[in-house]
Amino acid sequence: MPDAADAPAANDPELFDKVVNLCKRRGFVFPSAEIYGGFRSTYDYGPLGVLLLRNVKESWWRSMVQLRHDVVGLDAAILSPPAIWAASGHLASFTDPLVDCRNCNERFRFDKLKDHHVCPNCGARDSFTGARQFNLMFKTHAGPVENEGAVAYLRPETAQGMFVNFKNVLETSRKRPPFGIAQIGKSFRNEITPQNFVFRTREFEQMEMEYFVPPDEAERWYEYWCQERFQWYVDLGIPKDKLRLRAHDAEELSHYSSGTSDVEFLFPWGWDELEGIANRGDYDLTAHSTHSGERLDYFDPATGERYIPHVVEPAAGATRTAMAFLMAAYDEEEVAREGQGKGERRVVLRFHPRIAPYKVAVLPLSKNERLVPVSREVLGLLQPHFMCDYDETQAIGRRYRRQDELGTPYCVTIDFDTLDDRAVTVRDRDSMDQERIPLDDLVRYLEGKLTSSEAS
Ligand code: ATP
Repeated sequence: MPDAADAPAANDPELFDKVVNLCKRRGFVFPSAEIYGGFRSTYDYGPLGVLLLRNVKESWWRSMVQLRHDVVGLDAAILSPPAIWAASGHLASFTDPLVDCRNCNERFRFDKLKDHHVCPNCGARDSFTGARQFNLMFKTHAGPVENEGAVAYLRPETAQGMFVNFKNVLETSRKRPPFGIAQIGKSFRNEITPQNFVFRTREFEQMEMEYFVPPDEAERWYEYWCQERFQWYVDLGIPKDKLRLRAHDAEELSHYSSGTSDVEFLFPWGWDELEGIANRGDYDLTAHSTHSGERLDYFDPATGERYIPHVVEPAAGATRTAMAFLMAAYDEEEVAREGQGKGERRVVLRFHPRIAPYKVAVLPLSKNERLVPVSREVLGLLQPHFMCDYDETQAIGRRYRRQDELGTPYCVTIDFDTLDDRAVTVRDRDSMDQERIPLDDLVRYLEGKLTSSEAS
């Protein structure tokens, strides 16, 4: 499969708008509550987006849980009591510095301002108020009474679910350090300035894993997970020159972390974070143990030693990563019009097959009633194996273009010859080459093609 390295990505200043437009036009992402004028910075994932996002999450789960013997899964509650967030430190310090511009009254996150003296909205100089610390957690009330005793929070990260269930998992899963607990789910942060489409939103999805290790092994596992997580993006087709692993300097490090590295992607606005890998020491388990009074340690029967495991945490954003896959996959090229030899421009999303929303599109050459039964038969043959689209309207060339824009790796075309030879034409998204394949071999042929680029 041609590599998305050829795509214009960050060198194309219009890439951001092109991808956002394609997302709306083709049903990947819609602004939320659009018929009511939208709801600021919230998004709904349409028929294509939901498949893309599922594929991102499933690829993560496959690599982090399914293909390993040392990581188990979890799905913890989103609504959570203040005690968790008091122990984790979020109540006291999960804050961003908020400033107002006295001239235009816009609010900004001070640490993200390019110039600390100039308002990016109205251009006023030195018009900012002093910074106030703004807590990013969404507060609500559980039950009918809105008093202090009923306060609950929407989780701002999935990680705490793993720490508070450490003992439950240890006792029930027969795992022992080094082992991990992985979770995918929604998190909520009342971001001061949500921005860049689905890059920073108030409601988003995370993919996090807490890896519990003997203290003297923490550094080794930190290095291991940095490499492992970087490679995951590469294996799924993001070109290496659009990815980097950046270690935090001492100033940037959280007080409990002895090392943090971010996997960054070259977005149209520059390098920005997809995932953070942190060596968190025993901070989290110690904090929850102190606050809850529960013993959150591990007794090693082999050595007779009791210790609080250290934690290495790879924490990624699913929605943010889906956006990076879209940006990396976007390509435009000049091609001969299929069947006519005239030049035209095509837009193609060169997704890795695992990430592509549809794997196969089933396309009868025309809506002719003689073609419909066999086309439906082909669809029925493929559906148990692959996520398929079915489309019988418009000229075949336009339908190919549509599938290119959706990133569908293979189109299967049923024509009048199919009625006689029981074979179909398979078109490759990237090369646009076509091959005639007997129906009896079709599933095996497509399976071989779709998995040929797999590292594992
Ligand atoms: P940032 O510095 O961008 O605010 P962070 O370092 O606070 O992010 P973490 O707490 O490490 O982020 O969260 C892990 C991952 O969750 C991030 O790397 C990112 O992919 C994702 N994430 C965090 N906040 C958001 C958000 N508001 N919208 C979308 N994804 C997010």
